[in-house]
Amino acid sequence: MSPTENTTDALLTARGLRKSFGDNEVLRGIDLTLHRGEVVVLIGPSGSGKTTVLRALNGLETPDAGTIVVAGGPDLDFAPSAKPSPREQKRKRLALRDRSAMVFQHHNLFPHLTVLENVIEGPWRVQGRPKAEVVAEALVLLDRVGLSDKADARPHQLSGGQQQRVGIVRALALKPDLLLFDEPTSALDPELVGEVLLVIKELADENWTMAVVTHELSFAREAADHVLFMDGGVVVEQGPPAELFRAPKHERTQRFLTRIL
Ligand code: ADP
Repeated sequence: MSPTENTTDALLTARGLRKSFGDNEVLRGIDLTLHRGEVVVLIGPSGSGKTTVLRALNGLETPDAGTIVVAGGPDLDFAPSAKPSPREQKRKRLALRDRSAMVFQHHNLFPHLTVLENVIEGPWRVQGRPKAEVVAEALVLLDRVGLSDKADARPHQLSGGQQQRVGIVRALALKPDLLLFDEPTSALDPELVGEVLLVIKELADENWTMAVVTHELSFAREAADHVLFMDGGVVVEQGPPAELFRAPKHERTQRFLTRIL
């Protein structure tokens, strides 16, 4: 079933998202639904707008037009005619940021903090939760990804794959409803990609709701419930990975897949 057809168990629904940077129209009306427990993978050529979609869902970019609804939250309208005040824009950004956590291409860990301090920074200082509780949870999460012995290390003492696993733990520690991954393995040496994808696959198996931008098509094939192929700021084609990879309907999808496979 297409995620645009059934919104009953939708955790997040985005409709008609548009975004320009100057004259560059990067998103030209994106519709996207993330059902609870669903893994949606966004693929497409560089510059097609995939990262901008994730950043809009996370409140890091404000769309010029469209609507985003996260279950239980307000409808966030980004009407082209309305001129929202900075305060109003901030309210909308925070409404999204509170619900999701993003894992970036470069882990963005604070270099002067230990691994544990990096993980607790968000839940303790930003969310204001009790430190002892947050530390206990962080240690469990680090253990889960095989890094309990690195809690007191600084990021530069870790491999790229370990740093990215800390980045994932840092996102999980925020207890988000939705996980967003922006090319989480593309900055890694090839031999480190597998360990990070494995963690993401395990999260998928635990029914986390997630949107993943990646060029790792084998990951998309194995882990995605639904794949969106974007090109030129639109979703050209979408469907379950088995269908989309085996028999892409659109010529642009075929061309992209032939090039990348
Ligand atoms: P993708 O993730 O598919 O590679 P992006 O969403 O990163 O695509 O970028 C789409 C287009 O938007 C690119 O042309 C990029 O240069 C442009 N872009 C993205 N962010 C900004 C920004 N903050 N300012 C100006 N242009 C941007």
